[in-house]
Amino acid sequence: MTRAMTMTEDREKLGLSLCPFCGGAARFGKCAPGEQEGENDGAEYVECCDCGASTCLVFPLMDSAKQVLRDMWNRRPDDRKTPNAKLNGAEPSGGASV
Ligand SMILES: [Zn+2]
Repeated sequence: MTRAMTMTEDREKLGLSLCPFCGGAARFGKCAPGEQEGENDGAEYVECCDCGASTCLVFPLMDSAKQVLRDMWNRRPDDRKTPNAKLNGAEPSGGASV
């Protein structure tokens, strides 16, 4: 009967892995109406609290957006089209002899 109410318990409830980029905590976010262009109203996403990395927007069609997002986030975003890491970081430039 040890039931510890800790901060991590809350995080586990969300089921989000730590940020694949910086290891920070992730959280769910939602586009509030009026904040952006109207077309994103109500869309949800997961973002890193530290570096701001985020999934793409998902619209809660059957109020299961969080599951989809969690899946997306936990699967690591480099499966999808993130034009940063792989394309640019491929070339190990460091040995230019002068
Ligand atoms: Zn991060």
